[in-house]
Amino acid sequence: MTMTTKPKSAKPKKKLSPEDNLSLLAKAIIANAGVGIYVVQHGKFVYVSELYQKITGYKVKELIGKNSLTNIYPDDKEKVRNQAIRCLKKESFKPYEYRFVRKNNEIMWVLETITSIEYNGERATLGSFMDITERKNMEEAFRQSEGKYRTILENIQEGYFEVDLAGNFTFFNDSMCRIAGVNREELTGVNYRQFSNQEMSKKAFKAFNKVYNTGEPTEGFDWEIIREDSTKRYIEASVSLRKDSSNRPIGFKGVIRDITERKRIEQELNHMATHDALTGLPNRAMFSQLLNHAIQSAHRNKKQLAVLFIDLDRFKTINDSLGHDAGDQLLQEMALRFQQSLRTVDIVSRMGGDEFVIMIEDVNDLNQTATLAHKILTTTIKPMVLRGEECRVTASIGISIYPRDGEDEQSLMKNADIAMYFAKEQGKNNYQFYSTDIQSVANERLSIETNLRCALERNEFFLNYQAQLDFRTGMITGVEALLRWNNPYLGSITPTQFIPVAEETGLIVSIGRWVLKTACAQNVAWQRQGLPPVCMAVNLSLRQLIDDNLLRDIRTILEESGMAPNFLELEITESTVMHNPTRLIAVLNKIKEMGVRLAIDDFGTGYSSLAQIKHFPIDTLKVDRSFIRNLPQDTENKAITEAVIILGKNLKLTVVAEGVETKEQENFLREQICDQMQGFYFSKPIAPDQFAELLRKHKSHPKKKTK
Ligand code: C2E
Ligand code: MG
Ligand code: MG
Repeated sequence: MTMTTKPKSAKPKKKLSPEDNLSLLAKAIIANAGVGIYVVQHGKFVYVSELYQKITGYKVKELIGKNSLTNIYPDDKEKVRNQAIRCLKKESFKPYEYRFVRKNNEIMWVLETITSIEYNGERATLGSFMDITERKNMEEAFRQSEGKYRTILENIQEGYFEVDLAGNFTFFNDSMCRIAGVNREELTGVNYRQFSNQEMSKKAFKAFNKVYNTGEPTEGFDWEIIREDSTKRYIEASVSLRKDSSNRPIGFKGVIRDITERKRIEQELNHMATHDALTGLPNRAMFSQLLNHAIQSAHRNKKQLAVLFIDLDRFKTINDSLGHDAGDQLLQEMALRFQQSLRTVDIVSRMGGDEFVIMIEDVNDLNQTATLAHKILTTTIKPMVLRGEECRVTASIGISIYPRDGEDEQSLMKNADIAMYFAKEQGKNNYQFYSTDIQSVANERLSIETNLRCALERNEFFLNYQAQLDFRTGMITGVEALLRWNNPYLGSITPTQFIPVAEETGLIVSIGRWVLKTACAQNVAWQRQGLPPVCMAVNLSLRQLIDDNLLRDIRTILEESGMAPNFLELEITESTVMHNPTRLIAVLNKIKEMGVRLAIDDFGTGYSSLAQIKHFPIDTLKVDRSFIRNLPQDTENKAITEAVIILGKNLKLTVVAEGVETKEQENFLREQICDQMQGFYFSKPIAPDQFAELLRKHKSHPKKKTK
């Protein structure tokens, strides 16, 4: 435009020919085109525009007549020549890029278009070219940064993905494929839903939707993906919006991290925190949660629920005698048996040690609970093999009922526990429902334990002696030492109350040693007084039998007292022996070798089979007083007693009937040719000097009863 106005303002117009006008127009175009223009003929420059000179840095005289390829970067010369040839052949007019060496030796990138023209009547090439170095540099920088970005993407553990608005994968890195368990080719265009179940798809959709609506990225949300092979992976994803250059959402991009391992550890930790490692049962913490939940629901629905507190009897002894592995095995077996006795909805949990708790919901009838408790006792007592030996355990169960015995977790648990202790005191292997009466028993137990710990050093124990009478001769042939305890605070406490506590606490070992020593010393003292010698029976607990020092203690006591071993008879209850027959037989044999007699006490209550008895190196069988109680009226007891007497005879054992209280009982036993009797009918357990008196009198009247 400026070119056309300039001549106007200079001189009055002279009409130009159309050719001149065209030439002016061409000049103006060339000057304003923004590209360098040149003409090459026969390979040499014949025209270069001003801008061409400016761009290249070469002056017109350095170019005209010179080879047009001279300043082209050597590697690109061929390419440019080919373009020129094609142009002359009118083959291609597409723009192309190449490198050009400027006057100042700088390499510049140019974009060139050439076209074939006629110049001075001959064929020539018209070229227009543009400096594109800046763009090229930018492109290169971009390419480099993109490469870097790709390398980073491919080297990270995290999966990177881009999806379109419909959720189809458009871009992703290798980690993404690895996590999803697919090949690169398999992921493009696939929808994320393909990797999720319905629930997870919904969750992801919600997250995408939120990102879309708010424009804010999500905070890492957990997502579960299902691979083609059906394996599950847990991932944590953060997603943000992808926008185009005009800020319109075009999809989503995100980073995912495979947290399957972390999840597994979390789940494991969670399981560990809520379950007992040994048995796999819910632990105390978990049970507490379940119970609280059940209490709330029972409250809402006006229902009852039962809590059964189970404690294995004498578990400590098994653990100490057979080792912890056997103890663990026993607990696992019991856990299994309890579970098998219950409905799937009932909860059994291990509190620790040998304590288990069961929760039964929807209890309508307490008889049902009683039946279940009975079932548990029955399953517990079944023999099991530990370290190749057949063993039996029993359990004591305490039961509390919601809401009757407590309306919260604490009182239900406490009262079930109290009832369990009561069951222990009732002789173990039984269940008891909580009642306010047994509360006082529980308090008592606690003070028994506290006071028992110092009873020995405070000299609070003493022994009473109960005679054993021979049916045939009518003479006192033996005496049983029975432990008595008088405490200044608690008064007189019976052995059935404190012996179980002494056994559980282990105090029985030192107490038992004292009993043995005192009884032997007493027997020798009587003999020294000139009284007829009698056999001294002393009770021994299981805990003592597995004590490593037992044999040494017996030997020392016999030596120190000077009592002949055959005057000592050690009584072991039948249930004790049944715990672990093989191991105990070995101990009993050693005792036997010392010349000491052995008796099985409370026979008939310990579930041993009659056949097993013959393996024990025993001399005496004491029939439990529960079988004697209603003789001879009770036909069942009658049959059992008769059978036991016959068995004893066959095995050449001395059979002693315990708890004989009446003449009828005595007569019946005499008829059955029972060997000996012990009971209130002849004599209660009495003090040593009273017994000395009895022995003296009885000796003078051997056939006459004192009562
Ligand atoms: P046990 O060894 O079976 O002792 C017999 C128990 O029956 C004694 O109870 C005795 O008083 C009681 N008794 C005897 N005749 C009759 C009778 O005609 N009628 C009734 N109703 N009872 C009778 P006690 O002294 O209360 O002892 C209970 C249990 O405590 C003993 O049963 C024994 O297992 C245990 N025990 C007692 N002293 C010791 C001891 O020094 N060491 C150990 N480990 N246990 C002992
Ligand atoms: Mg006894
Ligand atoms: Mg007995």
